Amino acid sequence: MTTTETLTVVPHWIDGSEYPSTSGRTADVYDPALGVVTKRVALADRAEIDAAVASAKKASANWGELSLAKRQAVLFSFRELLNARKGELAEIITSEHGKVLSDALGEISRGQEVVEFACGMADHLKGEYSEQVSTGIDVYSTRQPLGVVAVISPFNFPAMVPAWFFPIAIAAGNAVVLKPSEKDPSAAIWIAELWREAGLPDGVFTVLNGDKEAVDGLLTHPDVAAVSFVGSTPIARYVYETATAHGKRVQALGGAKNHMLVLPDADLDLTADAAINAGFGSAGERCMAISVVVAVEPVADALIEAITSRMAGLRIGDGRRGCDMGPLVTQAHRDKVASYIDVAVEDGADVIVDGRDVNPDGDAAGFWLGPTLIDRVPTSSRVYTEEIFGPVLAIVRVASYEEGVELINAGAFGNGTAIFTNDGGAARRFGKDIRVGMVGINVPIPVPVATFSFGGWKDSMFGDTKAHGAEGVKFFTQLKAITSRWLDPSHGGINLGFPQND
Ligand code: NAD
Repeated sequence: MTTTETLTVVPHWIDGSEYPSTSGRTADVYDPALGVVTKRVALADRAEIDAAVASAKKASANWGELSLAKRQAVLFSFRELLNARKGELAEIITSEHGKVLSDALGEISRGQEVVEFACGMADHLKGEYSEQVSTGIDVYSTRQPLGVVAVISPFNFPAMVPAWFFPIAIAAGNAVVLKPSEKDPSAAIWIAELWREAGLPDGVFTVLNGDKEAVDGLLTHPDVAAVSFVGSTPIARYVYETATAHGKRVQALGGAKNHMLVLPDADLDLTADAAINAGFGSAGERCMAISVVVAVEPVADALIEAITSRMAGLRIGDGRRGCDMGPLVTQAHRDKVASYIDVAVEDGADVIVDGRDVNPDGDAAGFWLGPTLIDRVPTSSRVYTEEIFGPVLAIVRVASYEEGVELINAGAFGNGTAIFTNDGGAARRFGKDIRVGMVGINVPIPVPVATFSFGGWKDSMFGDTKAHGAEGVKFFTQLKAITSRWLDPSHGGINLGFPQND
């Protein structure tokens, strides 16, 4: 095994090239399927934060002035390069996050969707024009860039989550400083290199690696105009409160506990497949994972049988070996997730499948925890109330549709939810009644396509502007209304009254 001293250090990316850190602080980066430290990552200090923001500020002035046509050309080029080379990025993601290669490719494709949306920025930025609103006066509106915007992302989607924001921010004329998760930082550097190849001017896309110190530096920096954050709820709340207190525009997406309501008339095969895919895909490390199945009786027993029979066929192991599910991101996270199985037992739930018994197709030192199914979870248990963020699927049995909806609506989070039923009326009512930001009808992971906007309600999001789609364009631009009159000799004279339209 390589010793810590000889490991490469993932640098920052400032001014269009790698920027080796001088802070002297680093963190370990693991290969979760091997269970070993494979790299270290730089943790920025004040001087590096300032260098990153200063470079972005300088670049934003010219980039924002460039014609839309020229900016679009870079976006198109980036899209082509990403599409052609996404396999390389998927391998990087799998080696640091652990998710299986096909899943890594899936997240890149969803990020690419946002790049494609941003390729239409000339259309999205079109303003409005009203002629002759008053005699001889026309009004038009325009959307202009903010300057430097910070994107702070979580470990679970090292490509897709940053891509919810940076393509739109850049296409709209801003410069982006991305602070990736310190657990899997290499994807961001790969993306920065791709931008350079696509012809993006130096400084328009910056990667600042780091931990809380880097985040705090960005949240309070006078030259950062806006912050897009994605991560756990306590940090999202902190980011929102700190950055807004420093005068910034903020969208802070937090954690989740997503429920899937299953009515007795649901198609059991479709529902069981969906529960498996949404519960255990990416080892449950998805903010849109289903973590609670709310079974409206008498469906629970048959559904559990259908789910357990499918669980038996899942291959858990190294994401490079064609397995269905990989390891968790770190040993500490794996142990925390596994500890909820003990909590379930203490709280009187039935552990039907215990993921600690897993026999992985991978190195013994990897951070393994198999898919876990727990029935009759009391809603007072921490297994029900807390975000676990691992392959643990809880079953809660309810007597009616109404009881299920009431339960879901009472939860602290409001990111995603789904209903499984063949009753169109019930599905329609669910869409209307449920207090959650993203809803699936026979769709377990209802992540909206890039032309719509992504974001939850309640403790799953702080700030009122969601990610991508029209809301993303709005977030990364400021609206200006211009009222103009080209002087007509008949209009003139002094009038100190408030302007009125005539
Ligand atoms: P996290 O909150 O630990 O970290 C997110 C980011 O915040 C990272 O860049 C990290 O460096 C930084 N950070 C961590 N601690 C900090 C602190 N004390 N002060 C300032 N910054 C800090 O989240 P994670 O573990 O990387 O990601 C998993 C979480 O993200 C889950 O809760 C998941 O639900 C959530 N998530 C939400 C969405 C969404 O769209 N709502 C999407 C993906 C992930």
